[in-house]
Amino acid sequence: MIAQNISNVKKIMNLAAEKAGRNTEDITLISVSKTKPVSMLLEAYEAGSRDFGENKVQELIDKYEVMPQDIRWHMIGHLQRNKVKYIVGKVALIHSVDSLKLAEEISKEALKKEVTVSVLIEVNVAGEESKYGVSPQEAEELIRQIAILPGIKIEGLMTIAPYVDNSEDNRQYFAKLRQLLVDINSKNIDNVNMNVLSMGMTGDYAVAIEEGATYVRVGTGIFGDRQYTV
Ligand SMILES: *Cc1c(COP(=O)(O)O)cnc(C)c1O
Repeated sequence: MIAQNISNVKKIMNLAAEKAGRNTEDITLISVSKTKPVSMLLEAYEAGSRDFGENKVQELIDKYEVMPQDIRWHMIGHLQRNKVKYIVGKVALIHSVDSLKLAEEISKEALKKEVTVSVLIEVNVAGEESKYGVSPQEAEELIRQIAILPGIKIEGLMTIAPYVDNSEDNRQYFAKLRQLLVDINSKNIDNVNMNVLSMGMTGDYAVAIEEGATYVRVGTGIFGDRQYTV
């Protein structure tokens, strides 16, 4: 089931890339496995997935410890400063940096562990009150401040688009995130040359790819609906 889902998602990714005249190898599928058991992650792994996304530190660490070592783990959820120490050195990319204080904590932990941590700046492009992330207007200033910190590298931008029935409604936000990346790159800020756009989820990843996504984060489309227990 999961292998079939991944294969279907890949097909749609290829079509979207083709439509946009893009190289499909420039786009990586992240299997978003939050709330799902390790057995299902292993199925995705067997089907070829090497990039997994989690949104909670404890869950990510638990899975990191039992899953194969060649996986690239993506922290895609809101990250609290006091939990940074648990994931630095373990995750390939932190998608959710949205404050200088958080970036300073990552930098501090990176120096301690003698690693460089790759991060994305989370931008709330649609201006939804319920979402984390800096506004597009705040992004450049935050990037200038983070760029001078040691042990941390800004690879690009991430956004979580609104939940919509028609994915076309989100095209404007994906286009805006890409334009923001181009604009900020053009300022020639020292240590800043962003190449990564993490955008698009189950409902809208094809549109996101047409607008330049380099990472799409797909959960439901691979693992099925999530059941949250409280
Ligand atoms: C859960 C989650 C996803 C995946 O959502 P689906 O709609 O299930 O594909 C993507 N990105 C983030 C940040 C998430 O928290």
